[in-house]
Amino acid sequence: MIHLDHAATSPLHPAVRAAMEPWWGVPCNPSSVHTSGRRAAAAVERAAEQVAALVGKRATEVVFTSGATEANVHWFHAMRAAGRAGRVAIGATEHPSVRAAAGGCEVLAVDAAGRHGPLPSGIDGLSVQAVNHETGVITDLAALREGGGWRHVDATAGAGRIPLDLAWADGVTLSAHKLGGPLGVGALIAVDTELAPLLPGTQQRGRRGGTLNTPGIVGFGEAARLARVDLEARRALWARCEARIVALVEGLGGGRVGGHTVPSVVNVVFPGLPAEAVVQALDLRGIAASAGSACASGSVGPSPVLEAMGHPEPDGGVRFSLGWSTTEADVDALESALPAVLEGLRAWL
Ligand code: PMP
Repeated sequence: MIHLDHAATSPLHPAVRAAMEPWWGVPCNPSSVHTSGRRAAAAVERAAEQVAALVGKRATEVVFTSGATEANVHWFHAMRAAGRAGRVAIGATEHPSVRAAAGGCEVLAVDAAGRHGPLPSGIDGLSVQAVNHETGVITDLAALREGGGWRHVDATAGAGRIPLDLAWADGVTLSAHKLGGPLGVGALIAVDTELAPLLPGTQQRGRRGGTLNTPGIVGFGEAARLARVDLEARRALWARCEARIVALVEGLGGGRVGGHTVPSVVNVVFPGLPAEAVVQALDLRGIAASAGSACASGSVGPSPVLEAMGHPEPDGGVRFSLGWSTTEADVDALESALPAVLEGLRAWL
């Protein structure tokens, strides 16, 4: 299977698997005071350093969670608990977990390219993503960070794709599985050490209860470390693949959605062809892509992200997304398959 769906999840990196392996067979509750517990605690501490370093934060600020969804929900829960959730603004194209957690809030509109409009004045907090999960559009964080109030960045789709220095942000959300790490592990990195827990318990200095997932956290740390190694070389490879995919799509009557994007996400529309049908036909030829985002697929109706961008195409976008395992051979396979896929669909629909 050719995996062009890294924005949904990346396969586990072999080095991550190797780093996790020793922890499967041993007791590793970092709260235990005996030797195996202390070993686990040291491994979790090292992972916190690696994860924090990915976005320019400090290890002491890292709260490990079950993923980015929990981290986003935790952030808004903590802001409410602290009485800091008055006037809050979020981007119009945020991940569904942020939209749900934020509840009634002000929405920063985006233009057709996915760029955010100006920040309203006098807000108490702002939550925006670093990179859009569906289109790959890069948020102009420098323009938004001066807005006053707290600032939370969902960096799930941006980490490991662009260099991110988020030392200035009060809260940062990350997820391991977008980086070649394991599923079910993420982090909320929050300056506020008084962060009210979403899950009660003594672990993680009372910020998140529940026995820590030591193997998963170790894997997350290794994935975060790897994501910083050779990032520029990977970005150059992704840019070459991106250029080839865009040329292929345009040659076949399609067009790209969004401006100023990471090279690792190419969201395209083929006028008159439902994205779901294209994705299914590609799947039959051994190529994994997605229609919108994995979180949105299966849902009926247009993508909220494309809708927010005012995109006229009702049939949604096909998202090709690249990651650590991508090679130019993956694009060769797409070049071979896509013309016949579209021809077949156009003959039927
Ligand atoms: N935020 C963004 C920007 C994402 O892309 C995702 C994953 N689709 C999430 C949050 C949720 O991540 P997780 O799967 O770790 O809950």
